[in-house]
Amino acid sequence: MNARPTSPSSCQNPQDDALPFEEARDRILAAVRPLEAAERLPLRTALGRVLAHDVVSAIDVPPYTNSAMDGYALRAADLPSHTTQNISLRLAGQSLAGVGYRAEIAPGECVRITTGALLPPGADTVVIQEDVTVSEGRVTIGSGHRAGQNIRLAGEDLARGAVALPRGHRLNPADLGLLASLGCPEIDALRRPRVAFLSTGDELRGLGRPLGEGEIHDSNRYTLFGALTRLGVDVHDLGVVPDRPDALREAFSTAAATHDVVISTGGVSVGDADHTREVLATLGTIGFWRIAIRPGRPLAFGHIGDTLFFGLPGNPVAVMVTFYQLVQPALVRLSGATPNPRRQLRARALEPMRKRRGRTEFLRGQIETGGDGEIGVHLTGAQGSGVLRSMSLADCFVILDNDRGPVDTGEWVMVEPFCDFV
Ligand code: AMP
Ligand code: MG
Repeated sequence: MNARPTSPSSCQNPQDDALPFEEARDRILAAVRPLEAAERLPLRTALGRVLAHDVVSAIDVPPYTNSAMDGYALRAADLPSHTTQNISLRLAGQSLAGVGYRAEIAPGECVRITTGALLPPGADTVVIQEDVTVSEGRVTIGSGHRAGQNIRLAGEDLARGAVALPRGHRLNPADLGLLASLGCPEIDALRRPRVAFLSTGDELRGLGRPLGEGEIHDSNRYTLFGALTRLGVDVHDLGVVPDRPDALREAFSTAAATHDVVISTGGVSVGDADHTREVLATLGTIGFWRIAIRPGRPLAFGHIGDTLFFGLPGNPVAVMVTFYQLVQPALVRLSGATPNPRRQLRARALEPMRKRRGRTEFLRGQIETGGDGEIGVHLTGAQGSGVLRSMSLADCFVILDNDRGPVDTGEWVMVEPFCDFV
């Protein structure tokens, strides 16, 4: 059973009751129940999808013991010892990749072998071609070789019956190749979450015509489209909804009926046109949280029926910060994927950073690596919550904890590189 968010009481005292960031994230995660339905997919359409079951290898990989190099296959017992300088073996034939030498190698014999070719019965060692001389059907080999060298044993990468990839793993290009090497033409993937998003605001206009006075282009539906598409969920853009309670009510309930997740932006603060809160209160079990973060303080979270609802703030950077820090972890959990750890690295502040104690701040930065390998970070210009350029130029969040005050140049700060999740 999903845990439900707590009551809206967190909005009633204006000052001290903002939820710490970590607590908000954990409460959201605790309210998410991973999807379980699976569908069978051809291998190539499974890129980015989440495995519904462990994939167990039906074969050994490699399937047969073979040579790792071009050279000569022989018995280790025939290798020269420290005392004998050279040995001479009879060249009995050849084993090529795909066309093996099937006879047993007798003592005193060797076989020409190419990379990936079947190791003939009796042979257990390969000497590379650069280390031998061949003349009149005989191969001369010096000392300095090791029994078993240059051999890839059957099953040494993956034994038959072993788990090749675990349930919850999200398939990357290497995985497609790995599954192909096992001979899997199709896999069972978890169903993708159906995620709808919409914007609220009478000032918002679509693209393709000039703005009138007091109008702005709707950018949030584009950033969310991009972020959700990258995440690999099933994305549905429900457009712009006007700041009218009846319109919001209709839009939210229709969206919730056909999606696993609904994300709205705007209208969650306490302005005259902010109706999201009152409308949601009648539709589901939604809590309105003030979270001690910047940007992104007000947020609505809860359920309409079984559908998860996120009411994000309207400011474009606040949307992205709350999406990556609070919504994305929830979507990953919903998708059944095992989350990748987000790595936080320590970096030197290359400029002073304003910070107020009592909230976690997510500044946008660019990482610089010096010649000594030390990491520094500078900010991407003005950090207002409407300045999307600060996000667009960034390759990391600079995360300044709740208790941190202003940062001077040269102090250590923590950065979270976008390559882990953006
Ligand atoms: P709100 O929370 O609705 O008061 O919005 C906060 C700020 O974000 C206002 O300046 C809005 O105009 C702006 N905003 C809201 N939604 C969007 C959107 N979809 N695209 C760009 N800006 C937006
Ligand atoms: Mg608004």
